[in-house]
Amino acid sequence: MEKQNKLLIGSHVSFNKKDQLLASVQEAISYGANTFMFYTGAPQNTARSPIDDFKTIEAMNWMKANQIDISKVIVHAPYIINLANRKNLEFGVSFLIEELERCSELGMKYLVLHPGSHVGVGVEEGIQNIVEGLNEVLKKYHGNTMILLETMAGKGSEIGSNFHELKQILNGVTYSNRLGICMDTCHLNDAGYDLTDFDQVLEEFNQIIGIDKIHCIHINDSKNTRGSHKDRHENIGFGTIGFDSLIKIIYHEQLATIPKILETPYIEGDYPPYKQEIEMIRNRVFHENLRQEIISFYKETTINK
Ligand code: FE
Ligand code: FE
Ligand code: ZN
Repeated sequence: MEKQNKLLIGSHVSFNKKDQLLASVQEAISYGANTFMFYTGAPQNTARSPIDDFKTIEAMNWMKANQIDISKVIVHAPYIINLANRKNLEFGVSFLIEELERCSELGMKYLVLHPGSHVGVGVEEGIQNIVEGLNEVLKKYHGNTMILLETMAGKGSEIGSNFHELKQILNGVTYSNRLGICMDTCHLNDAGYDLTDFDQVLEEFNQIIGIDKIHCIHINDSKNTRGSHKDRHENIGFGTIGFDSLIKIIYHEQLATIPKILETPYIEGDYPPYKQEIEMIRNRVFHENLRQEIISFYKETTINK
C-alpha cells in the first residue's frame, strides 16, 4: 500500500455527561477534523461520571466511518493534578490511576499531563516528587495508555518549561517507556524557545530527549512575546508566533504522523474557531478576517435553525 502522510489535525472538544465520547467525535467531525482531544470531565475539577460503554461503541463506529484513527486521539488530564508538590501527591496519584483506567476503558492510547508546579519547594524537589508520583502510578496501572508530559510555559513555579527538566523526569521513572512528550507551541514560545527556527528547537529536543518520544503537538499561537512565561493561547496566525512558523511546524516532515491539536480561544468567548482554523491550515493561506468569518458562520447557522 502506498504510504500516506495525511495531516492529522483536530482540536480539543467537549465530552459531556450524556453522550460522552460520542459527543466528542461528532463535534470533531463538525470541524472537519480527523483527530481530537478531550477531557473526561471538566478540566478544572475531578468530578467524573462512569463511562457508558454503549456510547463508547457508538463513538467508535462514528470514528471508523469518518476515518478517525482512535490510536491518535488524545485525552487531557485535569489541571488540578499536581504531582510536583507533596501536599497534593497522594490525591494526584490516585486520581491519575483512575483517569488512566478511564482512558483504557475508552480505548485511548495517550493521556496528556502537566508535570506540575513545585509551589515553593524548588525545581529539584518538585522533579523528585513528580518522579515518585509517576513511579507509584505506573506500578499500579498496567494498561496500555501512555502518559505524555506536556512542555510548559514556565508560569509561576511550573516544571517542564525546558527539555532538561522533562528529561530528568524521564530518567527518574522506572517505566519511562510508558511516558512520552506532548509539545505545545504556545508554551514553547512563552518558555523562551525560538519557533522561527523550529528545526533548531527540534534538534535540541532530539539531542536531549529524542523525537521518537513526541506523540502529540498542541498547536497554538501566543498572546505574549517569547520568554514571557505567561501561557495565554492566541488564534492561529494572530499571535507572536505567527502563521508561517506554525505552518512549518504543522507540516514538518519528521512530525508527519503526530496528531496536531488546536487549543486556541473561542471568538468573543462564544464561537469555536476550529472549523475555520483547520480549513486555513489545510489551505496554508492566512485569513486576516478569520474572526469575522467565524462569527458570521455561527450567526448564520443559528438563524437558519
Ligand atoms: Fe495542557
Ligand atoms: Fe497545551
Ligand atoms: Zn497552555
